[in-house]
Formats: sequence, C-alpha cells, structure tokens
Amino acid sequence: MVLAVTARLVRPNFITEIIDRDLGGELSGVVRTRFPPEPNGYPHIGHAKSICLNFGLALDYRGECNLRFDDTNPETESQEYVEAFLRDLDWLGFAPSRVRFASDYFDQMYLCAAELIRQGAAYVDSVGEEEMRRLRGTVTVLGSPSPFRDRSVAENLALFADMAAGRFGDGEHVLRAKIDLGSPNFKLRDPVLYRIVHATHYRTGDRWCIYPMYDFAHPLEDLIEGVTHSLCTLEFENNRAVYDWLVERLRGRCGLPERRPRQYEFARLSMDYTVMSKRKLLRLVQEGEVQGWDDPRMPTLSGLRRRGVRPEAVRSFADRVGVDRANSRVELSLLDAVIRDDLNAEAPRVMAVLRPVKLVLSNLPASSEVPVQAPYWPRDVPRQGSRTLPLGRELWIEADDFSEDPPKGFRRLRLGGRVRLRYAYVIEAERAVKDASGRVLEIHARVLPETLGSDPADGVRPQGVIHWVPVREALPAEFRLYDRLFAVPDPDAADDPATALNPSSRAVAQGYIEPSVQGDAPDQRYQFERLGYFWPDPEDSRPDRRIYNRIVPLKDSYRPGPGRI
Ligand code: ATP
Ligand code: MG
Repeated sequence: MVLAVTARLVRPNFITEIIDRDLGGELSGVVRTRFPPEPNGYPHIGHAKSICLNFGLALDYRGECNLRFDDTNPETESQEYVEAFLRDLDWLGFAPSRVRFASDYFDQMYLCAAELIRQGAAYVDSVGEEEMRRLRGTVTVLGSPSPFRDRSVAENLALFADMAAGRFGDGEHVLRAKIDLGSPNFKLRDPVLYRIVHATHYRTGDRWCIYPMYDFAHPLEDLIEGVTHSLCTLEFENNRAVYDWLVERLRGRCGLPERRPRQYEFARLSMDYTVMSKRKLLRLVQEGEVQGWDDPRMPTLSGLRRRGVRPEAVRSFADRVGVDRANSRVELSLLDAVIRDDLNAEAPRVMAVLRPVKLVLSNLPASSEVPVQAPYWPRDVPRQGSRTLPLGRELWIEADDFSEDPPKGFRRLRLGGRVRLRYAYVIEAERAVKDASGRVLEIHARVLPETLGSDPADGVRPQGVIHWVPVREALPAEFRLYDRLFAVPDPDAADDPATALNPSSRAVAQGYIEPSVQGDAPDQRYQFERLGYFWPDPEDSRPDRRIYNRIVPLKDSYRPGPGRI
C-alpha cells in the first residue's frame, strides 16, 4: 500500500464501530474488504467514496482490500473499463492486495449452484419473465409458486446442466433460489440466481452462456476471497437477507471457507448538478454530449484528473463527506471548496489575461521595461519565492476590467479613474481608442510615478487592483473554462440527462499568460490571480500552443453563463 499510515484514514463512523467491536477494539486482526466495481464504465467520484472507505479501512486495520471486478454481465463489460479502474485506483493512491475477477470464479459458482439444487434449495424455473413477475406478487399480495417450483433434484440438475451446455435460448429458463414466496422482503421471494445470456464475455469468451446474478455472485465472491466486511450501498439493504441465506447454505462446502462474511450498507454519494450512474455517463459519452469519459466536466476520476484536480483533493472530499447510514445529496460547491483548499498552498500565483484588451501606458517610453518583483505566494501561505516581471509600455488587461459606463460599485478602471496594476504602479485612464463599431481597441492611461508600493502623493487612492501581462513577453494561450455540466440541481430526475445539460458548461477564451511559466513542469498548477486555479491540459497543451483548463474558479459565486471568469 502506498500511503503512510500516520493516523486513521477513515474517520470514525458506524462501520469502524462495528469493526472495532468485531476486533475487540484492537487495531489489528483480520479485516478484509473489497472494492467490487462492475467494469461497465469509468470510475466516478461516487466510487472514490467507496474506494477511500474500503482501502482506508484495510490500511487502518492492517488488513487487506481486494479490487474485484464484478464482471457477470457480458453484454456491457469490457477490458477498457477494467483498465480505467486500475489506472484511477492507482492515481487515487491505493494499491489492491489482489486483483480478482468474478469471472475467475464461474466454475466454482456453477458447482455451488449445483450444490444448492442438491440441497433442494434451488430450482430451474421456465415460466418466462413476465409470468414470474406476476407470480411474485405485490406488497399486498403474497407470491405464489411457479408450476416448476417442485421439480425434482434430478430434473433440476439435468436442466441446469443443459442451460450451461447452451441447449436453450436467452430467457427460456432461469435458476431460482427456493426461499420464501410469502416474505414481506421481495428479494426473498425466490430470487433468480442464474440466467441464460448468449453473449461473448470479454474474459471468458464463449465458455459460458449462463451468468450468475448479483445476488448469487456477490456472497460467493466474498466467501471465496475471505472478505470479512462487505460494504455496499444502501439500496442493497434488502439483498442482505439473500446474502446471508446463501452464505449459510454454502459456507464450508464446495471448497468455500467456513468464515462468514457480513454485509453492511452505507449511503451512496450523490451530488447536486451531477449524474453518477455509469449507465447515464456512458450515454453522455456515446451521444457526444461530452468529449469522452475524461471530459473535465465529467464526475469521473479521469475527468477530474484531466481538469487538474489532485488525488489529495478527492481523498479529502471523501473524508469530508463521511460515511453515513442515511442518503443525502452533497453540494457540488463542497467539492469545489475542497479542491480550492487543496490547491491554495500548492499553486503559485501568476497572471494571465483571458479576454485581452491593450493598455498603453502613455507616459512610459516605448523601450521602457520596469522590472517589478511579484511574489508567488500570498502572505498566509508559508511558502517563499517570487519572479521579476517586465512592465513595458504596452500591457494586456482583461477587457471587462475597463468600462466607459461603469455600473455602480465598479472597482476597476474607468476614464479618469485610477487602479493599481498588481505588484506595480497606480495608473489613471485617459482615453479609449475605438474602432468604427465602438469596440474598445486600446486604453491609454498614465502611470503615476512613485506609486510602487505606496499610494499616490495627491491622496486620491486607486479604486481597485487589476492583473496584467506585458504585451512584448506575453505567451499566447487558450483557456478552457468549465462549469457545472447540468443546469438543474437534480438531473437524475430527467428521463434523458441530455435534456438537463447546462448549455454553457464549457467556454474557450484566447488570451495571454505571463512569461515566467516558460519551462515549468507540464503538470504545474497555478492560481491565475483573480481568475481561478488552472493547469495545462494534459492531452492538448504544447509548449508552443499552451492550453489551460480551469480547475476551479476562485470562490463560489455561481452565475450561469459562459462569461464567468
Ligand atoms: P453505477 O450505478 O455507477 O454503475 P454501481 O452501484 O453499479 O454504480 P459498481 O461500479 O458496480 O457500482 O460498484 C462498485 C462499488 O462502488 C460498489 O461497492 C458500490 O457500492 C460503490 N459505489 C458506486 N457508486 C457509488 C456512489 N455513488 N457512492 C458510494 N459508493 C458507490
Ligand atoms: Mg452497476
């Protein structure tokens, strides 16, 4: 495991209480967890919650945590998704004790199913899906038996073998557990254990045409791997009864260990303005609504990584969210706040101008180049360092830092008004040069001498501070400004998430960045003063064509629209 354990990684919660009780309060003993994704999509931040919990517990209790691919649906799974989970788990900083696949256990699972049949605890049903649903009853109507429920063991064994041998088409038969059709818990009304699917599995190919259902596969996988605490999300609460029923019938048999794994449920992470299901995310990818699984607007770990979020921030977010027994929705702004906290002491402050307009300092000679010292860090960050910026006669400033007709409270540059250029002089705007359409091409301003580090001698103070980059040395750059992907707080409520998309979740600006970034590491993150945290896009940015992704804006001041910079 990669992380040094200095304190507990997982904040005390109801699961650590259970484990402490199981272990008699000792920080040792056998704790075996697993993280069991289905490889049918890319990992997202909800998975990160489960990863931090399962791997964190294994580290805290000096136990083990397997990465287990729950690959029992051949139609939707692939090696590409397996690799995405391996990559993102590694990026998050966790190393699995073992990597396992449910498909490795198909032979053993088949034997276990036959064992259940021999116990008279499973039967082949042939009524078809619709009839089976009808027979299962409702909340008020008890389930009733299928006419096939009392097939003999021999007949069941033969039919099950024929199912596996490919003698039937999809859906012709299923294997069901014989539990309790009168149970108020629907899951116990003879759940399906195996179904026929003629599809090529990405690992086992055409070896199988029957596949175990989640309810059957999961407890067996846990038994096989010696899992002690099997943590899943709350929607599986009712499945626990099936889990326990199967564990009781099969532990110590068919080569399975005696030791009983236990299932515990915790709240799933859900966030506003976000969809988290892999199925829905896949749809966005397939329909071209985003530019891939790693689109920086996606809640996937690859998307967050590409945007520039550090794994430390994701782990810290999981910690902040905590582990609870009640579902709730976390605000996206909490994630932003955690990302900002993480970057504050990591990202040096530099200046970039995203929507440039030229500022001409009319009382400086054309050749003038005043060296100004600009610290990389604010005073409250305990880090040192600065660079020298050449202040020439021509600078780029943000177009919206100047207004001829400023709204009330405008604290930037206006004609006749004063601002301080960050780390440099106070200036006073004299005139604007415009094209025929009235668009401002240049702003001419005069530098007030002797204002480096002090207020103007006449006592008229600047109205604000604006950032700038020198025209002569500026490096051209593209800036990709990402915003929340969805326009509505609960996009899951929409049948098609594509209808709830935020039309301005991505804007691109062409501007300039100060020359000091030349030669920096390709993964250097920055705070662009007054604008937000950025880093070079790892796919598209080149030394001669810089492209920066906005990781997160500076503070939470959400306003819809592409202009939020
Ligand atoms: P999805 O609906 O996104 O496909 P899933 O629940 O089917 O998710 P898997 O990828 O099959 O998830 O499961 C991997 C593990 O991650 C499971 O143990 C599951 O409980 C956990 N997990 C998945 N989504 C979340 C979430 N939003 N919050 C917490 N844990 C999650
Ligand atoms: Mg799933």
